[in-house]
Amino acid sequence: MSEELNPFAIAQQQLDHAAEIMGLDEATHQLLRQPLRELHVTLPVRMDDGTVKIFQGFRVQYNDSRGPTKGGIRYHPAETIDTVRALAAWMTWKTAVVDIPLGGGKGGVICNPKEMSAGELERLSRAYIRQVGKIIGEEIDVPAPDVYTTPQIMAWMMDEYSFMRGYNVPGVITGKPLPLGGSAGRGDATARGGIFTVREAAKVLGIELNGASAAIQGYGNAGQFAHALCVELLGQKVVAVSDSRGGIYNADGLDMEKVIAHKQKTGSVVGFPGTESITNEELLELDVTVLYPAALENQITGANAGNIKAKIVAELANGPTTPEADEILYQNGVYVIPDFLCNAGGVTVSYFEQVQNAYDYYWEVEEVYEKLDKKMTAAFHAVHETAQQYHVNNRMGAYIVSVSRVAEACKLRGWV
Ligand code: NAD
Repeated sequence: MSEELNPFAIAQQQLDHAAEIMGLDEATHQLLRQPLRELHVTLPVRMDDGTVKIFQGFRVQYNDSRGPTKGGIRYHPAETIDTVRALAAWMTWKTAVVDIPLGGGKGGVICNPKEMSAGELERLSRAYIRQVGKIIGEEIDVPAPDVYTTPQIMAWMMDEYSFMRGYNVPGVITGKPLPLGGSAGRGDATARGGIFTVREAAKVLGIELNGASAAIQGYGNAGQFAHALCVELLGQKVVAVSDSRGGIYNADGLDMEKVIAHKQKTGSVVGFPGTESITNEELLELDVTVLYPAALENQITGANAGNIKAKIVAELANGPTTPEADEILYQNGVYVIPDFLCNAGGVTVSYFEQVQNAYDYYWEVEEVYEKLDKKMTAAFHAVHETAQQYHVNNRMGAYIVSVSRVAEACKLRGWV
C-alpha cells in the first residue's frame, strides 16, 4: 500500500496515535479529530488586463477551547481544504504546546502569487477579507502570514477589515509592518524560536553546535532567517540551501547576504557562484549536524527517511515528515524537533503582537526575544521530558503535552 500523503489524514493519524498512548476518552478524541467550523469562499478579482478571475479560498477554525483561533493565510497554487484543515489542527497543538491563550485556525487561497502583480494581489487580499471578515476578529479568530503571504498583504487585509468595522482594528491580524502595529521581532520569530529549540536539543544530546554544519530546505521567511540565526546564535556553518527551483552546496559554507542578493536578482538561489547544484532531495540526505526543513509538507517520507544523516532535524516547516518517516527516523536515532514545537516562535510573537495591540503599548525587541526564549525553552523541555517518560518520539511527546491541555479546556467548558 502506498503511503498516505493527505496532510489532514496525516494530522488525524498523528492524533489517533497520541490518543491511544494517552488513553484519551472517545468523545474528546472524536471532537479533536475535526475542525469546529470552516468557511469556503469564492472571490471574483479584477485582473490587470480587465478580465475577472474567480479564486477559491478557505478559513478553518479548528478549536477555540483555549482562546480565539489563530493561524496564517497561505497563498499557493496547490492549496487544498485538507491542507488548511491539517494546518489548523497543527495550530491548535502549537498554541497549546507553548501555552498561550489561543486556539488553532488557518486560511488559504488557491492562487499563484508569483504570476500576479501587486495590484492583483491587493484586490485578491481585500476580496478574501470581505468574505472571511464576517467570521474573524481580534477576540474570535486572528490571521497571520504563511507561505507566500507578506507583511504588506497583512496591512491590506487589516485595512479592509478596519473599513468593514468603521474604525482601526490592528489586532485583527498579526505579522503587520511595524508602522501599523506590528511587533518588533516578528520578522524572524519563527526561525529564532526554532534556533532556541535546536540550542536546547544540542544540550540534552551533548552535541557541540559551534562550527557544526547545517542544511536548509526552503529559502523564504523561515529559511533565510534560520540561516542568519543559526550562524549568529549557534555558530553553525550552513553548507546547503534550496528553494522551489533547486539547491546549492559548498562544504566551506555559504554567505547569507550574498545568497539572498543572488536570489533577489535571479529569483532563485540556484546558480550562486562557487557552489555545486544539488536537488532538494539530495539536500535532505546530506551528512550535516542539523537539517532545517523550511519549505512545505511531505518532504521526508518512508522513501527517503532511511537516508537522512542529520543528527537533529529541526522542522521549521509544517508537516515536512510523514508518520512512516517519523518511525524510521526514531529507530535510526535522528532527533526530530517536531513542527508545531520547532516553528511555534512565529505564533508566540504574533500573540505578543496581539497583546501589544490590545494595550496600545509597544515593547523593545530585547524584551520580545527574552519572552520568546522563555516560552520556547519551557515548551522544548516539556516535550522532551514527556517523550522520555512515555518512551515515544518527540512528535508524540508534543502531542501528549498539547492534546492534554486542549482536552482539559474542552472538559472544563463542559463540551465533553
Ligand atoms: P515563504 O513563502 O516565505 O517561503 C517558502 C520557501 O519555500 C520559498 O523559498 C520557496 O521557494 C520554497 N519552496 C517552495 N516549494 C518548495 C519545494 N518544493 N522545495 C523546496 N523549497 C520550496 O514561506 P515561509 O513563511 O518561510 O514558510 C515556510 C514553512 O514554514 C511553511 O511550512 C510554513 O507553514 C512554515 N511556517 C512559517 C511561519 C512564518 O511565520 N512564516 C510560521 C510557522 C511555520
